[in-house]
Amino acid sequence: MLPRFPPLLTGLLALLLLLAAGTTAAAPPPLRLGVLAVLGAEATIQEWFPVLRQLQTALPGYQVSLTHFDHEGLRRAARREELDFVITNPGHYIELEAELGASRILSLDAGSGRTPQSALGSAVIVPRDSSPLRRLEDLRGRRLAVVSHEAFGGYQMLWGELLEQGIDPEQELAGLHEVGLPMNRVIEALEQGKADAGVLRSCMLESRPDWMARYRVLSPREIPGFPCASSTRLYPDWPLAALRHTPPELSRAVAIALLGMTQGEHGMAWSMPADYQSVHELFRKLEIGPYAYLRTPGLKHLAERYWPWMAGMALLILAWVLYTVRVEHLVHVRTSALQDALAARDASEQRMRAAQEQAEHLSRLSVLGELSGTLAHELNQPLATITNYAGSLRRRADNQRLTEAAVREAAGEIADQAERAAGIMARIRSFSRKRVGSCAPVAPGEVVQEAITLFQGMLARAPRVEVDDRLPAGARIGADRLQLQQVLLNLLKNAWDASQELPPERQQIQVSLEEDGDNIRLGVRDLGCGLDAATCAQLFQPFFTTKPDGLGLGLSICRSIAEAHGGRLTAEIPASGPGARFVLTLPKSDAAPGPVQDITALTSDR
Ligand code: ADP
Repeated sequence: MLPRFPPLLTGLLALLLLLAAGTTAAAPPPLRLGVLAVLGAEATIQEWFPVLRQLQTALPGYQVSLTHFDHEGLRRAARREELDFVITNPGHYIELEAELGASRILSLDAGSGRTPQSALGSAVIVPRDSSPLRRLEDLRGRRLAVVSHEAFGGYQMLWGELLEQGIDPEQELAGLHEVGLPMNRVIEALEQGKADAGVLRSCMLESRPDWMARYRVLSPREIPGFPCASSTRLYPDWPLAALRHTPPELSRAVAIALLGMTQGEHGMAWSMPADYQSVHELFRKLEIGPYAYLRTPGLKHLAERYWPWMAGMALLILAWVLYTVRVEHLVHVRTSALQDALAARDASEQRMRAAQEQAEHLSRLSVLGELSGTLAHELNQPLATITNYAGSLRRRADNQRLTEAAVREAAGEIADQAERAAGIMARIRSFSRKRVGSCAPVAPGEVVQEAITLFQGMLARAPRVEVDDRLPAGARIGADRLQLQQVLLNLLKNAWDASQELPPERQQIQVSLEEDGDNIRLGVRDLGCGLDAATCAQLFQPFFTTKPDGLGLGLSICRSIAEAHGGRLTAEIPASGPGARFVLTLPKSDAAPGPVQDITALTSDR
């Protein structure tokens, strides 16, 4: 019969059984190791199996796992906290240390003359017999097979070594042939002729007698006690590192467990962590890993590296500044020279303008002078009439025959004649006055009429002047009235000079006014002696004259006046009949381009 238990005791028993069952059912905590695979999956597992077995044995309460990765895979798994410990090469370790806070707790102790502090080197191998390469310097211009830029033993150690010897493998080799892991692909690349030399972890060559027979190491170093040939200095052995999240007691347990391994018993041993300072120095020199920031160009860095370029640039900038200053100076000098020249030109223009005004004045006086003989005669007529009337009045008074009607008639006649003489004098005075030109819209017909009146008023035996005015009513030109009169008077006087010695039927002058687009043409035609080709060529030159008492300035001044008004003065030999024709062309007032130009500028150009 089964013993009977009180209900309370039965409950407690059931609870204990449940807890016991729960404990046995819970999975053991994980202990996850990640290793960097350099030899391929199978070889890696085989290589690190002693570690796995040691931990399983020493820490039975843990679910120990060992997984292999490449560089990036190991970094990623550690970052995701999928691992508790990493076993990797020293270079990769210092990267994980800086990046993820990995902290070494042990270093491999490979034994056989290798200490944990001096265990790893790289061997540059070349075909034993066929290669002409002897030393590391011979690698210049050659193709080199490496595992990858990230491989510590497979490239970075040699990189540092070459830099120390003044060879930049990135620049001076014919090419870096990256073969990837496992490392024996380097041998394949050499065998396939893809590279002239290859980089292996030291001691790898010695582990394969068949390779040893076919390859030799470049620049092997003499390292006391080190059993293998190395082309580089030695670096500490691989570390085992705990990650930031790994519990310290687990690290301690793992360290104790692995320190218990021995070469003899397990084929692998661990020791207290080595000093990885030499790896830091290498990476600083290569500016990679935690020191990659050194490649970011700081000012000092730039100055050190590119000082010849910077000095060149500074020189260029200096040259440019000097050039600019010189150009500025030259511009300044030339500008002031130009200003002086302009001032001198202004002064000379001023003088010429004064001289021109003087010449115009003289020309007018000359016209008057030439006409003065006939002018005296013209004035004589009213004066003689006045004298006659005055004499007649006196005689009538003497004879007591002075009637009121006679006095009135004589006084009226005297007043008329005096007025006529005064009119002649006023016109001449206004014409001969020295003045500066001013421009205003004028009716060409009116100016022509005034000029003819003045002309005829000055001549005793004035020729007939016919006017043919075809201008529309209201046509205007922008002109200085007096200067225009002067031109017309000159043309009329020249026409008279050319014809006064000829028979009366040749002594007539025709003045025409017509429109020509935006211009108005004033023509003065005579039937006089005419122009020959030689005269035509010199007509407008100053001081050209064919007259014994001529000045030769009239036409030259007239042309200057025409051009100052934006017009022109031309001479024509008429197609039919004798004589000459002078045409003054001036822009219409609404088409005139602006104020009258300074005639001195035009005359001085000629
Ligand atoms: P000047 O009348 O003092 O000689 P101008 O400059 O007025 O000066 O004239 C220059 C020359 O042009 C005259 O001497 C004359 O030979 C010639 N000339 C001017 N007008 C006529 C004309 N209508 N017919 C023929 N020759 C002329």
